[in-house]
Amino acid sequence: MTNGIGKRVCTKCGGSRFNGWNSCMDCRNARGRLREQRLKANGGRHTVAEWRALLKTSPTCAECNRPWSVIPPRPDRRYKAVWTKGHKIAVYHGGTNDIRNIQAECYECNFGKNAGPLKR
Ligand SMILES: [Zn+2]
Ligand SMILES: [Zn+2]
Repeated sequence: MTNGIGKRVCTKCGGSRFNGWNSCMDCRNARGRLREQRLKANGGRHTVAEWRALLKTSPTCAECNRPWSVIPPRPDRRYKAVWTKGHKIAVYHGGTNDIRNIQAECYECNFGKNAGPLKR
């Protein structure tokens, strides 16, 4: 969407600070803050070591069961790993940040792009 002079305008807040995403930087930052607040309210915590240990025992995506090697590289090259930290019970549904609620998911599942198991 543009404002008529060739400048992209956010459909949500009318902002114009973009860096290649569908929603503007301000909206993304606001969403990130909200998520952080919810996560804090839900409680639970895990360490980097716990996450690394979990990754080590997770050769495949917990959602689609694809091995990491068959998952295409992320479109955003700043992120090298195809695995992401996922919450078994979504943060928005009251899921905690405890390691027991954490699983390794491919970015496609975590970001909702993968509709179902083994669909490529
Ligand atoms: Zn916006
Ligand atoms: Zn997956």
